[in-house]
Amino acid sequence: MDAAPRLTADWFDGHSARARPVQAWIDGGRLHFGDQSAPLAGVTWPERQRHGQRQILLPGGGLLSFADAAAFDSWARASGRGDSAVVQWQQSWRLALLSLVLLVAGLAAGWRWGLPWAVDRAVDVLPLSAEHTLGEHLLGGLDGEWLKPSRLSAAEQQAWQQRWAAAIARARADGGPAVPERFEIHFRDGGKALGPNAFALPGGDIVVTDALLELLADEPDAVTTVLAHELGHVQHRHGLRLMLRAGAVSVVASVIVGDFSTLLAAAPAVLAGNAYSRDNEREADVYGRALARAGGADTSRMAVFFERLAKRHANVDNNPMAIAISTHPADEERVRFFSER
Ligand SMILES: [Zn+2]
Repeated sequence: MDAAPRLTADWFDGHSARARPVQAWIDGGRLHFGDQSAPLAGVTWPERQRHGQRQILLPGGGLLSFADAAAFDSWARASGRGDSAVVQWQQSWRLALLSLVLLVAGLAAGWRWGLPWAVDRAVDVLPLSAEHTLGEHLLGGLDGEWLKPSRLSAAEQQAWQQRWAAAIARARADGGPAVPERFEIHFRDGGKALGPNAFALPGGDIVVTDALLELLADEPDAVTTVLAHELGHVQHRHGLRLMLRAGAVSVVASVIVGDFSTLLAAAPAVLAGNAYSRDNEREADVYGRALARAGGADTSRMAVFFERLAKRHANVDNNPMAIAISTHPADEERVRFFSER
């Protein structure tokens, strides 16, 4: 067995200023110096610098000083005490670049996976009442911008409302999926921009356009299924998730300062420029199909809805309200879904 390499050092015991020349070596998990030794785990090794002497801090306040830095470095390496990984990284621009790339990748991963996670946590803690306030403000903003009062008579509106209320009551009685604690269906004229449409706002306000009810006047089961789908968005709080995700930074700021005006001002643009994810849509479809069927509706009538939409040559890609139902992806897939037994 080779003898452990030795190096001359000045030992300061931490009490007197006098330096004592000693031989230092590492053996058996201990740093030996002269007739003393200390456990390796208790000593602090020097950060590598280009110049200057090297000093090992000893437990109890003493230190070993090595005048010849180059000799120390090769002695430390020969003793199995290379530089710590961090020091080596700092000294290599390639590794520094790599750590920068990893940092950027980490931030990107945080955006991709961390943000949705944070959104879900925020949705968990945000009370329904706050979500409702947000939705009411949104509806107010939409009423000034995209929506006009409905052209349907009060009697027509009441007839639709009664039909949906009956379907939901039946679904409840038949053990259908849980219905949102709070929701309200609003009739609006969405003009050409929105066309036949229905959409759910955070907090349970659901807007149904006159054009949708005109298009499906003879297909009440399709209308019920559309509404049930929107109730799925409400139940799963998709609108709130969408807004939080799109405006995460301003939402956090709003919550901290307790002022939602900035968020509310940006909200219509957020809703117009962002679509629900496909996962959200599927979730709403699964919920909507179950609820509508429990309510006695024939969900396969959705095929008629998609057919008629296509006939209108609805330019689905340019619809300004991306969350609206006419933009929902993969019509054929959805027709199959709503038709299968
Ligand atoms: Zn949807």
